[in-house]
Amino acid sequence: MTRPEKLTTQHTSSTQTTTTTTTTAHGYCCWHNGDAEDVRLIDVLETVSRGGAPALFACPPCRDRYRLVPLADR
Ligand SMILES: [Zn+2]
Repeated sequence: MTRPEKLTTQHTSSTQTTTTTTTTAHGYCCWHNGDAEDVRLIDVLETVSRGGAPALFACPPCRDRYRLVPLADR
């Protein structure tokens, strides 16, 4: 019916310093329980249990499979 013509693209490639890059990186995917490239933060656990991850990351295949939306895109 209607095509999404207005896409809110986020360009964050202005000045990327190599100090702390925690948004998009190689990390641990909580959905397939393994390391993955280009993981994104999906959700943050408010109560951090001992030994548990305080944040939930997902890789692109898992985000596509489970239709996960990163926190930054909400
Ligand atoms: Zn995954």
